[in-house]
Amino acid sequence: MAMHGVGRTYDGPPPVAALRDCHLTVRRGEFVAVVGPSGSGKSTFLNIAGLLDTPTEGHYVLDGIDTGPLPDTTRTALRGRRIGFVFQAFHLVGHLTARENVALALLYTRVPRAERLDRADEALRQVGLAQRAGATPSRLSGGEQQRVAIARALVGRPSLLLCDEPTGNLDSVSAGTVLALLEELHRAGMTVLVITHDPAVAARADRTVTIRDGRLGR
Ligand code: ADP
Repeated sequence: MAMHGVGRTYDGPPPVAALRDCHLTVRRGEFVAVVGPSGSGKSTFLNIAGLLDTPTEGHYVLDGIDTGPLPDTTRTALRGRRIGFVFQAFHLVGHLTARENVALALLYTRVPRAERLDRADEALRQVGLAQRAGATPSRLSGGEQQRVAIARALVGRPSLLLCDEPTGNLDSVSAGTVLALLEELHRAGMTVLVITHDPAVAARADRTVTIRDGRLGR
């Protein structure tokens, strides 16, 4: 992905320039952390990187596609196919098993039901939870729930894994397993972008970019 002079000003009054003149290129297979204090523009950055919002200035290019001119329906389809989201809160459905939670991410695709479940099992294997596929979230630890959420993000075979404070709800041991998993996915070729205010998370990335007052820096 690449941001070229991306800015995002929220309409006022008064207008708020939450992102200004951001330039960033994340190459395929890189693991990059974006670190900044509260109010620095991290959510705004995430929303643009995840195609949930559009810049008011500049260009956001994903997999070589300039996303600026795209109609909303195309942007939404692109988001569904190319981006896997991992949030601080796991957002799993309580009455569904891990396998069903992961398969749910393929519900609005053309993938037939039986294959959805097979793909969910494969994604759970990738995160080391194949043996827990039949468990509901309440039977899983926080770290396991986040790994299910990561499997759900992976099942659509995205080109970019976008993580928003992925360890924010976890104790240090679980945070360690989730971080190790992100590193492993990165080693296997996944592009990983983690937004965090935790320097320990950033320390594991190939590269850290800081965000401050809406500007990216080193
Ligand atoms: P962070 O995620 O780092 O806390 P945000 O991206 O949420 O930062 O916010 C960056 C700045 O933009 C803050 O000053 C915030 O108050 C402002 N902001 C965020 N969302 C809106 C909005 N919808 N309307 C107006 N201002 C906003």
